[in-house]
Amino acid sequence: MGIVIGSDFGGTNLRVALIETHGKILTQHIEKTSFSDTNQLIIEKITGQFQKIIASAPEKPLAIGIAAAGLVDSTQKKIVFSPHIPGFENLPLGEIIENQFNIPVVIENDASAAALGEYTFGASQGYRNTLHATLGTGIGGGIIIDGKLYKGKDGLAGEIGHLVFNPSGKQCKCGSKGCLETLASGSAFADQAQALISEGQAPILESIAEGQKPTAKMLYAAAIKDEKAAIETIQKGGQLIGLGLVSLINTLNPDIVTLSGGLLNMGNLLIEPLHKIIRIQKYGPAQQTPIIETQLGENCGLLGAAALALNKLDTSHRE
Ligand code: ADP
Ligand code: MG
Ligand code: ZN
Repeated sequence: MGIVIGSDFGGTNLRVALIETHGKILTQHIEKTSFSDTNQLIIEKITGQFQKIIASAPEKPLAIGIAAAGLVDSTQKKIVFSPHIPGFENLPLGEIIENQFNIPVVIENDASAAALGEYTFGASQGYRNTLHATLGTGIGGGIIIDGKLYKGKDGLAGEIGHLVFNPSGKQCKCGSKGCLETLASGSAFADQAQALISEGQAPILESIAEGQKPTAKMLYAAAIKDEKAAIETIQKGGQLIGLGLVSLINTLNPDIVTLSGGLLNMGNLLIEPLHKIIRIQKYGPAQQTPIIETQLGENCGLLGAAALALNKLDTSHRE
């Protein structure tokens, strides 16, 4: 049967797992990402995680798939830039891991990997054209056209978090202004939560945060406790993500849209406004397109990375 390693490096969590070829996760290690992780520190953290997981493997893994948040040059096995992980700048992570562990590595953008994971093991199995959106620290997108991951000329397709909603809006970490990601992502919610506290609009959130910088998770915790400002912030975010999806669905006309990422834990508070705004559109296919949540839960990216690794093994067998 054989096993592969899937890894998913996001702005909040660094995950590495041993995965059987039919998609069963055997063991998993999770560490927190830190915004202060430099190039060197993050390499040490990540290689440490691979070391541990390889040591615990019942047999030598056949391949390693890496899903990384940011712009990835998969041909050169390099992360070019990541808005949420400063250490991921011009980092030849794939090459480093391949050389150190002597196992073939495939590296891809995390949302593209998630799209492939969902297509291989999850909710979009059997469809030919799919759009996947990851709603985590940032917002990412992956596109499958005619059963194949669509990557575009430079391999960078799917950057849906950087659709510009307001050209004179807030500065985005990508360099542009007013991207969707500055308005409705884990990091945007965290910033908005902080602003609500500073403005004195969110006493419940303030007590949950206990003087620390609030997270999107804390914003949701306050919303559950009926904090009006927190509820409205999340609902507005859901609407904006929905509007982003409208444009994409009307552009691509996919069979199905799938969603994954930590923000799905906000449940209907986020997702209901998202569906609602799509339902009221009059023109184009958006209204009729099914939009469903991942069947792979928080392991969507990991299983996407495993699918990348398996695809690589498949092609090398055929070569
Ligand atoms: P990554 O960006 O590392 O891929 P995830 O997809 O795990 O991260 O999403 C992380 C984001 O989801 C963070 O902004 C976090 O605050 C938020 N989040 C995680 N768990 C919850 C929860 N239970 N309720 C609301 N938000 C959550
Ligand atoms: Mg992620
Ligand atoms: Zn941006």
